[in-house]
Amino acid sequence: MTQWHEWREAPPCDYAVLGDPVSHSKSPSMHQAAYAACSLDLIYSAIRVPEREFTEALEWLTQLGLRGVNCTIPLKGAAKDWCLGRGGFDFENPAVRPTVSVNTLDLKRGIGISTDEAGFMNALAARLGGSAQPSVLLMGAGGTAQALARAMAARGFQLSLWNRTRERWTEAARELSVRQMDEIDLSGIDVAVNATSAGLSDAELPVRWETAGRDLLAVDLVYGRQTPFLAEAKRRGLAVQDGARMLMEQGALSFEWWLGIEAPRGAMLEALADGHS
Ligand code: NAP
Repeated sequence: MTQWHEWREAPPCDYAVLGDPVSHSKSPSMHQAAYAACSLDLIYSAIRVPEREFTEALEWLTQLGLRGVNCTIPLKGAAKDWCLGRGGFDFENPAVRPTVSVNTLDLKRGIGISTDEAGFMNALAARLGGSAQPSVLLMGAGGTAQALARAMAARGFQLSLWNRTRERWTEAARELSVRQMDEIDLSGIDVAVNATSAGLSDAELPVRWETAGRDLLAVDLVYGRQTPFLAEAKRRGLAVQDGARMLMEQGALSFEWWLGIEAPRGAMLEALADGHS
């Protein structure tokens, strides 16, 4: 469990992750490890902010002296709205320009970026090589899946979409000109990405594992626990990747945007592997 604070009781600090709940977040240990590796005298906290109190909380935290925040569930949509009502987005930086939501704010400038998409892409590139254009089946249609689908379609990946509630993809699948699937059939798929939150409650997805090729890479965005999806992929001898590298990459991109220096990715990944929280 990460040590966290209610926003009205937050101690002075420099950066923080905001969410509700926020007790599970590994961002504080990861960013604190990065500050230590770079000899930076900065403090990164975890602060609980209910969605309906978001704007009020940001005003309070800015007064308290915070320079920037990461936003996690359920605040990424509210963070995008906050930017639209102030300085907007960082248009100079196309790799982190938000589409669906915002996860990183600069409180002084009133602008935001989204590092989830580039974080996911960097994590996948670390595994497959930067020039790969795999055939990907993306499961889930929540905020994260919506953003990743747009990022992968823009890269020219051959994309297929599946979600438990089929209707959530119908319009976007048409808009992105990608295939929507009624079942999780892995025939011809190079990478299967579980962007649902099913693994958080140990729920299983109706995957037709018998259709998987031997070279399939199974990716789950959940980190810090073994999901049934990755456990079954592993049991079948398939390659797997959990959400830790994506978390590290999105955190590293936030760090670099705020501080203008290269993030110590090794130290950040090590902090996640250590299970510090
Ligand atoms: P979200 O908006 O709440 O969306 C949840 C999605 O999961 C929906 O598509 C929902 O389907 C599906 N789902 C939930 N329970 C399910 C079940 N039992 N069976 C099948 N589908 C189920 O969440 P999000 O923000 O997109 O995040 C999704 C996941 O990605 C979370 O686990 C989050 O922790 C993880 N994540 C990780 C990182 C990282 O850095 N590693 C970054 C961002 C997000 P319905 O539409 O049918 O309800």
